[in-house]
Amino acid sequence: MRTIQSLGRVLGHVLAFSALTACGSEPSDGGSSDSSATTTGTDTTGPTTQGAASSTTSPANTSSSGAVATATNTGSTDAGSGGGGSTGGGTTTRGELPALGCNTELAVSSGTTPQVVSDRVIEYTLDGEPARDHYRVAILMFDGQTTPPEDASGWSHTEYTPEMVGEAFFNDPNGVAAYMAEASYGKVSLEGTVVGWFDIGAYTAPVDEIVLDYETYAAMALDDIDFADYDITYIVAVTDTDELLQIGWGLGNSVQGVYPMGIDYMINSWFWNEAGTRAHSSTALPSTSWAHELSHTLGLTGHAIGLDCGDQIVSTECILAPYANPFSIMGAYIYGTHQDVRGKLAMNFVDAAQLQEVTASGSYGVCPLETTDAEVKGLSITLPQTLTLTESEAVYDRLIIEYRTPIGFDRYLERLSSDFVTEFFPAGPLDHDGISLMLGYANESDSTVLMDVHPDTEFTSSGIKVSGDGGKYADARLRLGETVTLEVLGLEVTYEGRTTDGGVMVRVTYL
Ligand SMILES: [Zn+2]
Repeated sequence: MRTIQSLGRVLGHVLAFSALTACGSEPSDGGSSDSSATTTGTDTTGPTTQGAASSTTSPANTSSSGAVATATNTGSTDAGSGGGGSTGGGTTTRGELPALGCNTELAVSSGTTPQVVSDRVIEYTLDGEPARDHYRVAILMFDGQTTPPEDASGWSHTEYTPEMVGEAFFNDPNGVAAYMAEASYGKVSLEGTVVGWFDIGAYTAPVDEIVLDYETYAAMALDDIDFADYDITYIVAVTDTDELLQIGWGLGNSVQGVYPMGIDYMINSWFWNEAGTRAHSSTALPSTSWAHELSHTLGLTGHAIGLDCGDQIVSTECILAPYANPFSIMGAYIYGTHQDVRGKLAMNFVDAAQLQEVTASGSYGVCPLETTDAEVKGLSITLPQTLTLTESEAVYDRLIIEYRTPIGFDRYLERLSSDFVTEFFPAGPLDHDGISLMLGYANESDSTVLMDVHPDTEFTSSGIKVSGDGGKYADARLRLGETVTLEVLGLEVTYEGRTTDGGVMVRVTYL
């Protein structure tokens, strides 16, 4: 992976074609600060050897996969042995805990109606009412490939048309508009226009030059659209180079110097025809990166990182594994695609009260991350003392907890309980039920760092983006009835049980 950081407002990762997705987040003010500073653990190879164990997981029920889901005994007091300091939690039985007010509804995009305006302009007009945050999107497509393409190794303008992009983006049930409607609980709607292809000749220069020279490319569309009518522009290009560059800039940028605009760059981005299938990266259309970058544009600057501590859960010697969280679109998104709850707060999809501050021991309820209720979607547990990682010097002051269910764009969680997972996690299938424990940054970065509370299980090297993502973190979450003692953090956490309305109760104990 080569990283470009010296290009003014550009911060991105340019990957060789063999890597699936790359992205850099952009500060919305056009400044060049490295907002990914918290994600630059970079070295993700191999677990490191740590000192003495500082964390233990004490399963209430040690049987594998399905047995957990069907167990009636959950994490009551003394749920396991050897964990030390197990919490009192009262008796909790799955399905018998009082309702929290969660619902089971998912927000759905109203869709758009296309209208061909000219031979290269298609407008997509929203069918329903605009949502709270309504954005008009201009997708500009630039063909820099020779015809026929000399390298047909994976992307080509011949593989997708402006019509296909428009349908995928605005109308497909696996598309960006559908994704953002669901992830925002109906707070975001998208409509807009696709313009293209513009023929830019055989483009062989480094792909980041398209980003640096974006005004030139935007100007090509001045005869076709009025930028004053749009909030976000996608600069889409295919070139004759083998580089992939995908970046999301915030809404505070502009085109033509006067039009405020978020800008997303999809240079040699892929088009996943198989979205919705079992293919590894088939979670969204046109590809998952289109929604990932739009999340940056809508205010989420960080990523879903993994904490790699070898065979431990957490210590000061852990390293950061960029993009490794397989449960978030801001990470490896193989099992889930909703942004995590901290990211949703950054985009104002949830309000501050829905990421409940916890500063005292007790039992706390959390509703599923995906559903439209306005209840608590996550816990932000203040650490008794901050944790500083030796290598990255990253400082964490909170533990964030969320709960996902296999519905909507998070239906891919079902992969955990199918043979799909065994490619990465030989001991699988796993139960898909669990709560995620993520470190949160003291500097208010909206990145999160997923902890693997079952760090000593075997996984294969056939990860998704970073070797091990799909395997090591497949069993990262705390299962029903388990207690994890995190001495380094001064906390103990128990997944106590599920509520009658699909939520969970989590017991937090300050040690
Ligand atoms: Zn990103």
